[in-house]
Amino acid sequence: MTEQISLLNQPTLKPKIILGIAAHPDDLDFSASGTMAYFASKGSEVHYLILTDGGQGTSDKNLAPDQLTKIRQIEQQKALKILGGKTVQFLDYPDGNLVNSPELKKDIIKTIRTIKPDVVITMDPTMVYSASRGMINHPDHRVAGQAALDCVYPLARDHLAYPELYAQGYIPHKTKTILLTNFDTQNYILDISETIDLKIQALKAHTSQIEDIQQTAIWIKQNSANIGKNHGYQYAEGFIRIDLRV
Ligand SMILES: [Zn+2]
Repeated sequence: MTEQISLLNQPTLKPKIILGIAAHPDDLDFSASGTMAYFASKGSEVHYLILTDGGQGTSDKNLAPDQLTKIRQIEQQKALKILGGKTVQFLDYPDGNLVNSPELKKDIIKTIRTIKPDVVITMDPTMVYSASRGMINHPDHRVAGQAALDCVYPLARDHLAYPELYAQGYIPHKTKTILLTNFDTQNYILDISETIDLKIQALKAHTSQIEDIQQTAIWIKQNSANIGKNHGYQYAEGFIRIDLRV
């Protein structure tokens, strides 16, 4: 049985190198870690780039932001290891105030040109809110998605974008495919039935962020089952897939 479905009849995805780009430690593990683990098990290299220091993600008044940053970075490293991922890089921009600045884009371009991914996974920046889910998407998530898209196309590809990078040896790179997380819309579905347990294990590693892992596991399974049910999969993750032709 096929393990992935493209509603646009795009070819089967077989990434050599995947780069996940997200605002906070845990974002990629909530949205895409079944997919990360699936491709890692098939031989893909999986890398993460986390843009902020995650220093605001607590209700614990006794925890200093720099302590929280350290805790969250260790949690992210553990989670990625569980998934079979290779490296995680932290850029440490201040949590809660991420701006799609020239400085941020320059940092992302450097990573794209170093890792040379054929697939980039990030969040759909157009996802501002969901009335049906009663939520506003965190502004850092939107900025991270927008900055990632801007860097994939055209900035990482063009040697004249930030020409000092080219002069420093960062050779331009074309990413072939983007997978965007959008909670309500998907055109690409991946069967994660074999990796759902790894996804839950990875989320368990984020102990500072998850109060009740049993409840989170139930919610993750329900959500993944909902995505999978129309496609014959027990559990699935879905994305908006864009194969770049230029
Ligand atoms: Zn987040």
